[in-house]
Amino acid sequence: MKREIYDEDHEAFRASVKEFVDRSVLPHTEEHIKAKALPREFWLEAGKQGLLGLCIPEEYGGSDAGDYRFNAVLQEELSKVGAAYPTCHGIHADITAPYIVELGTEEQKQRWLPGVASGEILLGIGMTEPGGGSDLAALKTTAVRDGDSWIINGSKTFITNGYSGDLFVTAVRTDPEKGPKGITLFGIEATQEGFSRGRKLDKVGMEESDTAELFFENVRVTDAEIIGELNMGFIHMMEKLPQERLGCAVSNVAHAKQILLETIDYAKERQAFGAPIGTFQHNKFLLADLVTRIEAAEAYIDKCVLNHSQKTLTAIDAAKAKWFSSQVQSEVLDHCVQLHGGYGFMNEYRVARAWRDARVTKIWAGSNEIMKELIGRDLGL
Ligand SMILES: Cc1cc2nc3c(=O)[nH]c(=O)nc-3n(C[C@H](O)[C@H](O)[C@H](O)COP(=O)(O)OP(=O)(O)OC[C@H]3O[C@@H](n4cnc5c(N)ncnc54)[C@H](O)[C@@H]3O)c2cc1C
Repeated sequence: MKREIYDEDHEAFRASVKEFVDRSVLPHTEEHIKAKALPREFWLEAGKQGLLGLCIPEEYGGSDAGDYRFNAVLQEELSKVGAAYPTCHGIHADITAPYIVELGTEEQKQRWLPGVASGEILLGIGMTEPGGGSDLAALKTTAVRDGDSWIINGSKTFITNGYSGDLFVTAVRTDPEKGPKGITLFGIEATQEGFSRGRKLDKVGMEESDTAELFFENVRVTDAEIIGELNMGFIHMMEKLPQERLGCAVSNVAHAKQILLETIDYAKERQAFGAPIGTFQHNKFLLADLVTRIEAAEAYIDKCVLNHSQKTLTAIDAAKAKWFSSQVQSEVLDHCVQLHGGYGFMNEYRVARAWRDARVTKIWAGSNEIMKELIGRDLGL
């Protein structure tokens, strides 16, 4: 189905992203998998190409695109190479940077945003704790007042860019009595005394993205590190999570679509019983089914992207986009593995890695159960 949300400016931008991917990403994917991380050169090169500052105003080194469709184009093109790329990039540029851009003080913007846009300051976001991620309001990392300072103690886990990041927007309890109304966001630099991180976590998929635990032991910060308002952190996160979920949805569909297209090619070439396997009715009907599912998901996500670019996307529609796209992606990729036969289970085949990479998308950014909980509540249930 012809897509209608992108115009020639978006397509020209897509071409420049493709050029970056061909030159700076594709030749290095195996190195990234082995290193279990994206090297700093990736970030610096992306910064040079203007791919880290779409949401950052020009005065701080960004390009201030002002139209989420450009972010979506970038996410789509990175997803075609592998699911970890839009994840790491998205956490940095589309998920964490907006907290500083939209909630930061002038001093914070000047201190951090030029480095964020250039790739010299890599961002991560610390919400999830070892004790739980779904129930964000129950987080236990604390900040206690000490004169003009705050003393932070606690830990975060599963943090994307956690091993190599430089600055973490971190959700911390500043009032133990007030539940969700006692949470504040702090910008915590990795050089801060008392900050440390664990090893790169050993994941089932998404090897290229580094994921780590963060530890805070008497980390001393001041009000100058508060992002947004004191005790408003939970509200700030709720306001920003729809964009995070939409970004996930864009990647989910683009990633699955790419692997499906490669699988269709495979089904045309691979022979069994003297014929291409795609010509057997079962497989032909299956591929027809999968293409339809992807296009239906893509049409819904495109509408969400358009709404978001017009600032009308609701949190509930973002939740629907997130759970549905990750479910479709997982189903499609499971069938793609099956169509590859034994090769589909070999790590050297992209389809195998894509299938493993996709699994987490039903868990993170708010699990699919939490997404359905939000949608159900909106139904008055
Ligand atoms: C690779 C990876 C990268 C990540 N990156 C980040 C990051 O950068 N920053 C960050 O802060 N977090 C990150 N996360 C954490 C992720 O967001 C959490 O894992 C997720 O929110 C779920 O939290 P949890 O793991 O504590 O599971 P839990 O909250 O313990 O949930 C366990 C199960 O119970 C279900 N459940 C919980 N509550 C309900 C309910 N009310 N109704 C029905 N079912 C329920 C959940 O859906 C899940 O199936 C990442 C996770 C992974 C695996």
